[in-house]
Amino acid sequence: MSVKDNLKHVLNTVRQAEKQADRVSGTVRLVAVSKTHDGDAIRPAIEAGQRVFGENRVQEAQTKWPSLKQDHPDIELHLIGPLQSNKTAEAVALFDVIQSVDREKIARAIAKEMKTQAKTVKLYVQVNTGDEPQKAGISPSETSAFIEFCHNELGLVIEGLMCIPPADENPGPHFMLLDKLARAAGIEQLSMGMSGDYETAISFGATDVRVGSAIFGQRDYQV
Ligand SMILES: *Cc1c(COP(=O)(O)O)cnc(C)c1O
Repeated sequence: MSVKDNLKHVLNTVRQAEKQADRVSGTVRLVAVSKTHDGDAIRPAIEAGQRVFGENRVQEAQTKWPSLKQDHPDIELHLIGPLQSNKTAEAVALFDVIQSVDREKIARAIAKEMKTQAKTVKLYVQVNTGDEPQKAGISPSETSAFIEFCHNELGLVIEGLMCIPPADENPGPHFMLLDKLARAAGIEQLSMGMSGDYETAISFGATDVRVGSAIFGQRDYQV
C-alpha cells in the first residue's frame, strides 16, 4: 500500500468513526506523524492534500520541514514529543502547535520565546494519565493547577490536552479521563489516539488523532 492509499484509508476510517460517535463530520483533525520519515516519504501525503503533520524531535524536524513548509505555507506542524528548554527557540520558530507542554520550566521558556519572536504557537498540555514514572506529562491530579499557572503567571492560553495511554492498558479509561480534565478546565482540543486506537479515541471525544505507522508504514527504529 502506498502512503496515498494509507492516508485515504485512515481518513475514511476517521470519518466513519465520527459518524458512529454522532459527531459532526470533519471535526476530528488527522495529525500525520512523520517522525523517522524523510521528505521523499512525506511529499506524497502533502500532494494528496494532507496539511497537518506531527514530529516528536525538534532537531529531526529541522532537517526536513523548513523546505517543505516553504513550498506549502499552509502546512500546520505539531510538536508531539518532549521539548528540552535549550531547543525552545527552534521549536517556537518551526512549529505551529506544541502538544507537549509538561512542566513549569518549559512553559516559562515557551512564553519568553513567543515574546522574543513575536510569534504565537498553540499550546497543549501533555497529561500522564497513567502516572507512569518513565513518561512525560503532568499528573492528572496536578493538571488543573498547572493550566492555571500557565494562564495566570505566564499569560499562556492552553488550547488542548494530549495523552499517550500506557501501552499495555485498555486506552478507553485514559481517553475518558483526559476528556474529563479538559471539560473541567474549559479546554476544547483533545489530542488522543494513535494508529492502534484512534477510532476508540474518536468515540471518547478526540479532536486530534496522531497517526504515524498506519500512514507511513512501520518505522525502521523505535523512538
Ligand atoms: C510516534 C507517535 C505517534 C504515532 O504513533 P503510531 O503508532 O505510529 O501511529 C503518536 N503520538 C506520539 C506522541 C508519538 O510519539
